[in-house]
Amino acid sequence: MRADIEAAALAAERDPAGVTLVAVSKTQEPDAIDAALATGQRVFGENRVQEAQGRWGPRRAGLPHLQLRLIGPLQSNKAEDAVALFDVIETLDRAKMARALADAIQKTGRDPTVLIQVNTGAEPQKAGVLVPDVASLLALARHEYGLRVEGLMAIPPVDEAAAPHFRRLFQIAANEGLSVLSMGMSNDYAAAIAEGATHVRVGSALFGERKALPGPL
Ligand SMILES: *Cc1c(COP(=O)(O)O)cnc(C)c1O
Repeated sequence: MRADIEAAALAAERDPAGVTLVAVSKTQEPDAIDAALATGQRVFGENRVQEAQGRWGPRRAGLPHLQLRLIGPLQSNKAEDAVALFDVIETLDRAKMARALADAIQKTGRDPTVLIQVNTGAEPQKAGVLVPDVASLLALARHEYGLRVEGLMAIPPVDEAAAPHFRRLFQIAANEGLSVLSMGMSNDYAAAIAEGATHVRVGSALFGERKALPGPL
């Protein structure tokens, strides 16, 4: 998979070192995790706090260079657990969550970096702040709550071409002076890299198809 990402970066005339593979390990069995670790993979994405605690809590101590990224929606009452476990929280999308993260950071003494999730397709069922509201949430997160916001994340609508959404996210990030762009998954990572992704979140193309998730995603 890393070779594919490198090839996509070179095809886009980008430095492959500028694109990080986030291995999305949700629902994977321990053997699959260990196999990924054995290849040197150290950056992992998880979308549920509790599941991630079970998987990474016991492994973490022996892995000083591990980086865990929360890529799923976060509830305020899980903010403290999330801050305690994750190094990057990619899914900030509302003021209430910014406040909960700030409180959790103060309480735990940890200081994860943060991405703002943007609902580029304005899909009613999808998490993420709407495009016109990115700037105000960014200002609030930084200035009111002191969060270290370093970029944006998005999941384009499944039934539309992804590239225009990636391009929009890139433009918003450029306007706001943000350098990190988490976009692109198994089916569209190459398009995302062509549009400037710094982090691609790849699950099934790396690990194979997932088991069914327990309950709604
Ligand atoms: C599951 C998930 C991915 C990985 O999806 P694949 O299509 O398996 O690569 C990426 N991003 C988020 C937010 C996810 O929930």
